[in-house]
Amino acid sequence: MDNTAIVVFSGGQDSTTCLFWALEKFERVIAVTFDYNQRHKLEIECAKNIAKDLGVEHHILNMDLLNQLTPNALTRSDIDIKNGEDGNLPSTFVEGRNMVFLTFAAILAKVKGARHIVTGVCETDFSGYPDCRDIFIKSLNVTTNLAMDYNFVIHTPLMWIDKAATWKMADKYGKLDYVRNNTLTCYNGIIGDGCGECPACILRKRGLEAYLNNKS
Ligand SMILES: [Zn+2]
Repeated sequence: MDNTAIVVFSGGQDSTTCLFWALEKFERVIAVTFDYNQRHKLEIECAKNIAKDLGVEHHILNMDLLNQLTPNALTRSDIDIKNGEDGNLPSTFVEGRNMVFLTFAAILAKVKGARHIVTGVCETDFSGYPDCRDIFIKSLNVTTNLAMDYNFVIHTPLMWIDKAATWKMADKYGKLDYVRNNTLTCYNGIIGDGCGECPACILRKRGLEAYLNNKS
């Protein structure tokens, strides 16, 4: 039981790096992907392919209801992707998404007899999502433990590192090229280096350049 981890896995750079991190630390790793009618169905396909490629058990849970509650730019093509300005959250924000995902991941973990839950949330690239904060994760860890009378441990390997350090972590496991070529971060649904222009691509590219420049 101490050697099984559930990884919240979207097929993006961060969660794929977390998947490699978990594969180093735990004997058994299970990936869970949430289908909430993402703008790009490709995200689910991408996650499926990576899990298959790595031989990782993979579950896809239907979370359509999230879109019913909070329509936003990730799920609705008629809403533009905008960065948060003047203290507003970005238009990609899905209210309570991490709380919902982690809660369902915990339920799956308990069913699977897994104690460890891994998520790629990060305060460093903080876009103002309150349920990505460390304090929230700690609070939810206590809550899930109480709710299910179980000793979950929620791991956040990326919490305090920036995108450059996330690339460094992938490189440490010899997976930089794999993460670079097979993951989908781009809001315009282009795998790998992406469109190069959306906020997610810009963040990813800046991090990669910073890491590669530093390394050479
Ligand atoms: Zn892009």
